[in-house]
Amino acid sequence: MLNRRNFLKNTSLIAAGSVLAGKVSVSCTESKTSASKKSKNFGLQTYSLGKELAEDVPGGLIKVARMGYTTIELAGYNDGKIGAVEMKEFNRMAQDAGLKIISSHLNPPAREYDKDNFDEIKEFWKKASDHHAAIGCKYIVQPGQPATRSTEEVAFVGEVFNEAGKIAKAAGLIFGYHNHSGEFARVVPGGTEPIVGRGGRQRPEGMKVIYDAMLEGTDPSLVVFENDVYWTVMGQHDPVAYMKKYANRIRLLHIKDVAVLGESGMMNFSKIFETAYDINISEFFVELEGYSDGTQFEGVKGCADYLLKAPFVK
Ligand code: MG
Repeated sequence: MLNRRNFLKNTSLIAAGSVLAGKVSVSCTESKTSASKKSKNFGLQTYSLGKELAEDVPGGLIKVARMGYTTIELAGYNDGKIGAVEMKEFNRMAQDAGLKIISSHLNPPAREYDKDNFDEIKEFWKKASDHHAAIGCKYIVQPGQPATRSTEEVAFVGEVFNEAGKIAKAAGLIFGYHNHSGEFARVVPGGTEPIVGRGGRQRPEGMKVIYDAMLEGTDPSLVVFENDVYWTVMGQHDPVAYMKKYANRIRLLHIKDVAVLGESGMMNFSKIFETAYDINISEFFVELEGYSDGTQFEGVKGCADYLLKAPFVK
């Protein structure tokens, strides 16, 4: 039976076939890469490659594409450059490798937000938005947690995020926030430190998980969330439950495990992908940490192999 999914699969195969048929000079290796690119949609957070990518950016990006990755999320933004490479040049290298830059991780110059540095933070996002819009990037995502010790501080962070979202939107981009495990601590009104754990038997009044307060304290039309599924689990929470509860807010995922995907056995990737497709998430970025220098490409390839083999990844 030709259901919609099979129809789309067949259509994309026909499209790939006709491109290849018209390009007789295509090498065997290239045609294999093109075929695998059509089969699954997942990307790589380039931070996973650390210094190894910086040593040879164009060559490294080609390796990444050959592994089966189709998109990338940048790391290392610094005033118009990614590491030492001008962003337009980086984008050209990605295009040459057949990778699309969808997103980028960057942090404003302050971790403590206050009225005095609000303008400086806005200025940072304005400049960064222009740089990213110029290369056709879609999302700019903050991966670093600002200081959030109390309900009031989380509320102010929400205001700053909304402003960043307005600035990004004006440039044609979408602002997002990426979590680690610290966002699953809790805060109370007037608090001086985040509360790790559930707050004891007597739950302090007004206590709230920071991540929930961030989701609820930001404007859905201005701020999206990139859920790092591994760090959510490490924060003792379920990424699937968050995706279901905040389906319109969580629009990107970091697909991460202790090291190479699937090896720890602690992440329910099948359920994570099933839920993500249900709520129409289309951007998945693999992130690898915990690999020593000299082996990162190997680890990143291990992650791609896992996703290519996984029957639940489209
Ligand atoms: Mg991450």
